[in-house]
Amino acid sequence: MRTTVGIVGAGPAGLLLARLLHNAGVDSVVLESRDRAYVEQRQRAGILEQGTVDVLRAAGVGERMDREGLRHDGIELRFEKKRHRVDFPGLAGGRAVMVYAQTEVCKDLIARQLADGGPLLFEAEALAVEGVDGDSPRVRFRHEGREDVLECEYVVGCDGFWGVSRQAIPAELVRVFERTYPFGWLGVLADVPPSHDELVYARHDRGFALLSMRSPAVSRLYLQVPAGTDAESWGDEAIWDELERRFETDDDWKLERGPITQKSVTPMRSYVHEPMRHGRLFLAGDAAHIVPPTGAKGLNLAVGDVVTFARALTHQKETGSSELLDAYSATCLRRVWQAERFSYDMTTLLHPDPDATPFEDRLQLARLERIASSRAAETDLAEGYTGFPFG
Ligand SMILES: Cc1cc2nc3c(=O)[nH]c(=O)nc-3n(C[C@H](O)[C@H](O)[C@H](O)COP(=O)(O)OP(=O)(O)OC[C@H]3O[C@@H](n4cnc5c(N)ncnc54)[C@H](O)[C@@H]3O)c2cc1C
Repeated sequence: MRTTVGIVGAGPAGLLLARLLHNAGVDSVVLESRDRAYVEQRQRAGILEQGTVDVLRAAGVGERMDREGLRHDGIELRFEKKRHRVDFPGLAGGRAVMVYAQTEVCKDLIARQLADGGPLLFEAEALAVEGVDGDSPRVRFRHEGREDVLECEYVVGCDGFWGVSRQAIPAELVRVFERTYPFGWLGVLADVPPSHDELVYARHDRGFALLSMRSPAVSRLYLQVPAGTDAESWGDEAIWDELERRFETDDDWKLERGPITQKSVTPMRSYVHEPMRHGRLFLAGDAAHIVPPTGAKGLNLAVGDVVTFARALTHQKETGSSELLDAYSATCLRRVWQAERFSYDMTTLLHPDPDATPFEDRLQLARLERIASSRAAETDLAEGYTGFPFG
């Protein structure tokens, strides 16, 4: 098999890249190790920045998002039983975010890609990326029980944190920046209308809680739990009781309960792999960086990376100049580090650290008070949440 761009992984990064390249008249092949149902049902992100919404619309996959997605103009911060709303358009130059699940973004992209003839191969596991220092890199992969080779001009590793692509970059050229957190998120899906029409980020002495949603009928809720917690060790009633405690207010706000249909624990990690490019291999999305989910940045960063790559390749095809491809890693990393900073700030703002001193606990509350009382501090949060410009 031969193509211009070999794409490893059909998460949001790989699928969107295939679409952007198709629209630019560049051929690609996507290899995905899992089956279609798995990719379409994996519960993950749900918040799309303004820039991501604009990219999906321009790529021709925004129609269902515009019909079924929920535009959100703000979030609520909750601490010490008090409520503070952050108004995005008023603080961040008219920008807002869209609640539309990653599962739905992937379904829309897969449907369009297959309708246009693909090629998008499920259950095709990349085994290794080779020859990236030369002019004809290739991906060795296994599909339908046999090994095959995809010859390319460029390979883009969109294979997530556990993928194989980044192993093709020599270890002596790599720097990894990493932080793990002593807590994770117990996330549940519940068949109950959300108890608030915007996301609620609650800081409580017992831990952080987040109220989010997937649709007007389905709530998505999270609890901070110690790292390594087994989701099954939490019974449904215990989850609702704990959510109720952490969301408690001094007014008559009430948390509605309903049947829990899914629960899982997500570890929290900050991770950046530098560089994001070596020779003809480019890394995009979770293959190169991870943020803790508090800032809702992971999917949006993946979108920023592939937009940057597609623009750079188009520039190269149109002008013959590889200037933008050469700048790919530096261009993406500027945005990545802003998102890392924002996600770290949101995480340490809202999660009581089990090892924190009483002094640090008070500082955390002082930071929240500052956001609630200073337009400058609140503007910083609103700008970060609604997103940094794509490079
Ligand atoms: C619980 C949770 C909540 C989150 N909430 C948010 C949020 O609100 N907002 C937000 O922006 N982000 C959020 N994120 C992060 C977001 O989901 C990820 O950043 C996003 O999925 C990254 O997309 P990706 O395409 O880079 O990687 P992935 O989605 O991980 O896709 C990688 C793909 O590559 C495939 N693959 C792996 N290895 C191989 C191989 N060897 N060969 C072929 N294919 C391979 C995988 O099967 C997968 O389909 C959340 C994540 C989690 C876990």
